[in-house]
Amino acid sequence: MKKMSTDVIVIAGGAAGLAAAIAAAEHGARVIIFEKANKTGGCANMAMGLLGIETKRQRERLIGLTTEEAFSKFMEYTHWRSDARLVRAYLTKSADTINWLEKMGVNFVEPSKYFPGSEATWHIIKPKTGNPGLCAAATMIEIMTERARQLGVEIYLQTPVQKIILEDGNVKGIIAVDKTGLHIEARGGAVIIATGGFGDNPEFIKEYTGFEWGKDLFSYRIPGLTGDGIKMAWDAGAGKDKMGMELVYFAPNTGGYAPIELAFRQPNLVVNLQGERFMNEEIMENPVFSINAIARQKKRVAYSIINEKIINDYDKNGLDVINVVTANIKMEQFHQELAKAVRTQNENLVVADSIEELARKADIDVAGLKQTVDEYNFASKTRDLLFDKNYRYLKPIDSPKFYALKFAPSAYGSLGGIKINYKTEVITQNHQVIPGLYAAGTDANSIYDNDYVFILPGNSLGFAVNSGRIAGENAARFVKN
Ligand SMILES: Cc1cc2nc3c(=O)[nH]c(=O)nc-3n(C[C@H](O)[C@H](O)[C@H](O)COP(=O)(O)OP(=O)(O)OC[C@H]3O[C@@H](n4cnc5c(N)ncnc54)[C@H](O)[C@@H]3O)c2cc1C
Repeated sequence: MKKMSTDVIVIAGGAAGLAAAIAAAEHGARVIIFEKANKTGGCANMAMGLLGIETKRQRERLIGLTTEEAFSKFMEYTHWRSDARLVRAYLTKSADTINWLEKMGVNFVEPSKYFPGSEATWHIIKPKTGNPGLCAAATMIEIMTERARQLGVEIYLQTPVQKIILEDGNVKGIIAVDKTGLHIEARGGAVIIATGGFGDNPEFIKEYTGFEWGKDLFSYRIPGLTGDGIKMAWDAGAGKDKMGMELVYFAPNTGGYAPIELAFRQPNLVVNLQGERFMNEEIMENPVFSINAIARQKKRVAYSIINEKIINDYDKNGLDVINVVTANIKMEQFHQELAKAVRTQNENLVVADSIEELARKADIDVAGLKQTVDEYNFASKTRDLLFDKNYRYLKPIDSPKFYALKFAPSAYGSLGGIKINYKTEVITQNHQVIPGLYAAGTDANSIYDNDYVFILPGNSLGFAVNSGRIAGENAARFVKN
């Protein structure tokens, strides 16, 4: 057994862990990070940007959203089920955090909305190479890792933490194991948990969220995000907080935002397996609202139905609804994937010359779909009496070829598990602080309760970095005292 000692031990070097380590070191603490993977960053390496409110960049772009307004939106959206003090602490810190990252050398593109009905809170990172897009935040992680090292933070890669050492109810350190199998006992005055949740743990997902991975959930599984920190915290006496998945909708097993989805993620006709409409398809732009509606349906699936005429219209005039991610996908890519999916008989896609054939192939009730399509086509000439959808999006499905793409629940990862207070101190079920134990990021992200607050985009990475910073500052103070 190798022995080490320091002031603050950070379990994991993802977005929250790095922010915590840097903040603690800036406040004078000696810090060690133990990271399970062979590089830092975890899930954050795939992200694009983080939330900031009242930042300098927003003011320069005349984006007037205030922290008070954002707080109100957040709390109304979550029906005040979230910890208001924690939400307030996070949102209030967010502008300073963008500044803090900029000082480290992180560059941002203009603050952006995610979809038209959201706010421009998403501070997308300008990557070192290429255009801003998926994985842009990997550049931020590189810069944060470098900054942590400059501050003297020791980072041990491929060294997963297995256990938190508790003595008389106080946190005294951790046990980790390095890649050679050598056990390490690291002692420190404070421990910060930030292991990124349980997105790669199907048993946890089944037990705590009610979804079954591969059956009715096709979420990202970032290797190593197996709920380790949550288990360790519970073993150390932490309370359990609300757990769920950060749900969105994708075509199953496509990896998310595949070009094939492009013309189907539009506010056209969407039906369940009974062939019935169940939502105003205008909400297709908000992946959270849409998946809430889809996940209620039989087998938790829905089909988006379009025809050749609609595709031709999109080719000529562009899509109806664009978000920051789909804006980077071209209709040529959609056509290429569509042709391939037809050739390879992709199970998510159905193509037919009649509505009956489409329904049979997709296992949708034939009579139900025929009736819905008749009503929908009539509504396109009159008005949508069912959901009052904007007439612009009532495009008739009245001539072949017909196409249907299946959508099902997916998720960026998990949410929540460890109960914390607004200082990010870990608390028991009975709200007693466990002295010296902190948690940040996805492991402790129960603030959405239940739904990802997508109207303020950049919220997950934003919560990770800001809660990490808060944890690091408080842990350093705790150790000093
Ligand atoms: C495709 C994709 C795109 C996304 N885009 C965005 C976006 O643009 N904006 C946004 O707000 N959010 C986005 N997210 C979500 C965002 O990336 C996460 O919310 C954020 O990274 C969470 O930070 P974290 O520190 O909690 O976890 P992570 O960044 O995942 O870090 C967790 C770390 O813990 C390590 N670990 C696990 N177990 C152990 C152990 N036992 N010991 C030591 N280390 C351990 C892991 O290896 C990992 O490095 C996206 C997610 C995905 C999948």
